[in-house]
Amino acid sequence: MNTPLDTDADNFDVLIVGGGMVGASMACALGKQNLSVGVIEAFPLRSHSQPSYDARSIALAYGSRRILEGLAIWDLFKSDISAIKKIHISDQGHFGVTRLDSQQVGVNALGYVVENRVIGSALNEKLRQFENIQLICPAKLIDLFINENFASITIEQDQQKRTLKSKLIIAADGANSAVRKQLAIDCHHWEYGQTAIISTVSPRKPHHNIAYERFTSSGPVALLPLSENRCSLVLTVRDENKEEILALNDAQFLSHLEQRFGYRLGGFHKTAKRSAYPLTMMRAKEHIRKRVVFIGNAAHTVHPIAGQGFNLGIRDVSQLAETLILNHRAHKDLGCLGVLKQYEKRRKPDQIKVAAITDTLARIFSNEFAPLAHARSSGLFLADIIPPLKHQIARQAMGVTGRLPRLSRGLSI
Ligand SMILES: Cc1cc2nc3c(=O)[nH]c(=O)nc-3n(C[C@H](O)[C@H](O)[C@H](O)COP(=O)(O)OP(=O)(O)OC[C@H]3O[C@@H](n4cnc5c(N)ncnc54)[C@H](O)[C@@H]3O)c2cc1C
Repeated sequence: MNTPLDTDADNFDVLIVGGGMVGASMACALGKQNLSVGVIEAFPLRSHSQPSYDARSIALAYGSRRILEGLAIWDLFKSDISAIKKIHISDQGHFGVTRLDSQQVGVNALGYVVENRVIGSALNEKLRQFENIQLICPAKLIDLFINENFASITIEQDQQKRTLKSKLIIAADGANSAVRKQLAIDCHHWEYGQTAIISTVSPRKPHHNIAYERFTSSGPVALLPLSENRCSLVLTVRDENKEEILALNDAQFLSHLEQRFGYRLGGFHKTAKRSAYPLTMMRAKEHIRKRVVFIGNAAHTVHPIAGQGFNLGIRDVSQLAETLILNHRAHKDLGCLGVLKQYEKRRKPDQIKVAAITDTLARIFSNEFAPLAHARSSGLFLADIIPPLKHQIARQAMGVTGRLPRLSRGLSI
């Protein structure tokens, strides 16, 4: 039974820790509900130092578009997106190639590319429209205590400590989750020995809205189409080569890129600033505790090889919103394990599948062991010529496989 907390400003039904891409989307999904929601975010949302809304661009799957449309966020940034009409996957030095085409799957686009900063400002604008949402920012969680009937957290805001109470804490505070550390929740974690160097580059030939993924012995190179014939680049390098590649001047960097990617786009003539992200895989050993649930990168971090991290996180949002809203209408205590287990059970298969696919891809496509290189090349070739296999890969990339929550199916909750 949902017994209300005292109604002063520091008591909430739901407190979301982390107002990044996933946490802010979660808050929007609970907007307009008869629930008091607080969002605690360490960085000012409009600041350049905000780590979730940085210079990266993100590939949004078709399924994520449906969720963002359901949350009325999509329209706020749709003029800034670039559609992915085709995906071209190749393996440097080997014959196999797979081509996925939106027309063959019967959709206008396989996915969309948008700059993180653009999504950030749309989420920020949307969040401020809801009267039931209180943005507590900049503020940092420093302590957490789980009680029988509520969770109590201490935050630091304006150099003052403040205690907030809530029926449920949603931890969306990223890969180094402070909530996870407070609760001493262990995780499966490994490093790939690779770093993603991201930038924006301009090819000499038109990209025709094709996304490219090229596997090379040092790791994958991904190019996502952007407006004005620019491409968002994710260049994976071995950790030991990171400093050297970051130190290259622009001409040297573009020539390194041409060696890795080849001349399918006629070479490159312009590059923007570069940033580096170490690549890791992480899965928290517990995704729920009484009064706490983990979503997005706080629950699982995957290699960006298939551009799945945020797409996975927004599907967490979609399912958790559905579970919480339906149980709230049934007057259930949202922090009880029974409710949180419903969420966990629904999300686990997709999370495990995507983690397994990305991890396998990251490993087999960075390995030059000859029989393995031959097998993966044959795999790409077969995927290109066997229509049902190709269709299944396209549906997976579009984020429309498995049991989908209502928002993912374009339905309201
Ligand atoms: C190179 C690269 C390319 C990628 N490309 C893609 C792609 O194409 N498609 C895709 O779907 N995904 C992609 N991803 C993954 C995607 O960026 C992440 O999955 C996504 O950003 C996770 O969002 P999040 O909100 O869960 O975590 P984060 O973005 O880490 O946000 C966490 C938030 O919590 C806040 N916070 C942290 N600690 C505290 C605290 N103690 N108190 C208060 N607030 C706190 C932080 O300030 C931050 O705003 C890529 C990742 C990388 C590294």
